[in-house]
Amino acid sequence: MFENLTERLSRTLKNVSGRGRLTDDNIKDTLREVRMALLEADVALPVVREFVKRVKERAVGTEVSKSLTPGQEFIKIVQAELELVMGEENEGLDLSCQPPAVILMAGLQGAGKTTSVGKLGKLLKERDSKKVLVVSADVYRPAAIKQLETLAGDIGIDFFPSNVEQKPVEIAKAALEHGKLKFYDVVIVDTAGRLHVDEEMMDEIKDVHQTLNPVETLFVVDAMTGQDAANTAKAFNDALPLTGVILTKVDGDARGGAALSVRHVTGKPIKFLGVGEKTDALEPFHPNRVASRILGMGDVLSLIEDLERNVDKKEAEKLAKKFKDKKGFDLEDFRSQLQQMKNMGGMMGMLDKLPGMSQLPSDVKDKVDDKIFVQMEAIINSMTKAERARPELIKGSRKKRIAAGSGTQVQDVNRLLKQFTQMQKMMKKMQKGGMKNMMRQMKGMMPGGGMFPGR
Ligand code: GDP
Ligand code: MG
Repeated sequence: MFENLTERLSRTLKNVSGRGRLTDDNIKDTLREVRMALLEADVALPVVREFVKRVKERAVGTEVSKSLTPGQEFIKIVQAELELVMGEENEGLDLSCQPPAVILMAGLQGAGKTTSVGKLGKLLKERDSKKVLVVSADVYRPAAIKQLETLAGDIGIDFFPSNVEQKPVEIAKAALEHGKLKFYDVVIVDTAGRLHVDEEMMDEIKDVHQTLNPVETLFVVDAMTGQDAANTAKAFNDALPLTGVILTKVDGDARGGAALSVRHVTGKPIKFLGVGEKTDALEPFHPNRVASRILGMGDVLSLIEDLERNVDKKEAEKLAKKFKDKKGFDLEDFRSQLQQMKNMGGMMGMLDKLPGMSQLPSDVKDKVDDKIFVQMEAIINSMTKAERARPELIKGSRKKRIAAGSGTQVQDVNRLLKQFTQMQKMMKKMQKGGMKNMMRQMKGMMPGGGMFPGR
């Protein structure tokens, strides 16, 4: 979502010149560019003004540390202020209360409320082992209730039936009663879309809110609406005490204005990002990571969380055990890694989050092709068990056989074996140094080889 902003910022932030100290003079032009970039990203004007003012105040007179260039020093300040404007820390859900903890969803039609109910239910069930009940109080479209029922069925969480003859308040009451009786940890209540100017509908959700006394009232809003997202959230917040925001469709080509404006305009934190239509496409919102992503430093931590969440647990454990047993990493393991990569939405899904990727021209990105992984898997499939366990067996005639069996060329087999050897080396390093070591290596991959791009 931040591609344009990132591109503009990384271009301009390189240009801060001078030595020793940041001054009015050497940041003036860059500051103007930053302002333009934010406005172009549809960040709300008051937010832009405040942001630029704060960056300026903080920057002017700042001593540039010996190890940094003025540009890097300036980026550090921009990064810190970006985090601040988005709220600094990740704010998760606060479900501490007498169970069931009730979560009420509100928002405009089509914002992604129902989808988010499903995603959140899945997250709470799988990550936090909560017993979750969902219910729909959208009595205006019969299909809406059915939509949630189907979604709940797919995810494997319980659905409390309701129908269009009922009043939303009645539905809320019944679901809450059922939630108490059956010892649910969490009850998530979906509602119909509404406009904040529709008094009747706003009264309805206020009544539902009063009936439920939810611990979390989340405003679901489409990132594509830019700074309007922040303004509608504010209007809703005036009628309904919101506890947070879920920003959806961040995977689309929204320009980032919503993410940067919501906190400042409403005073309420963004708690989650919706990053796709699938039920696992929900990410906790981390201002520091998003700030890094905006500045083109990638989002390595989110990527690692993704890995942890999507990698098959059993496979991961098997791999870990293998390390312990000192048997080493073989082609069988390599194959299961390829398969897991596929499960994570392929290479493109991962690439987007890697540092510096935003600077890659799109024609280069287009060349990244997941087909290569299918081919690699086919090559490994054509090997015998013994060959997978002991790749050093694979010589001339075996290579030919494997190439023929997988419909590839001997050079493809050679390339795979080389990649495997590299992977094996990396695994050995990880085994010795653990995660820290890997993080250091990843940092080394960042543009300029350090924390900040554009040196
Ligand atoms: P509601 O009217 O607020 O309940 O909205 P829905 O949950 O029915 O979603 C409306 C449309 O937005 C559906 O087609 C969803 O698949 C889609 N949608 C919801 N969240 C996301 C998201 O994070 N990314 C993308 N790409 N689509 C989403
Ligand atoms: Mg809905």
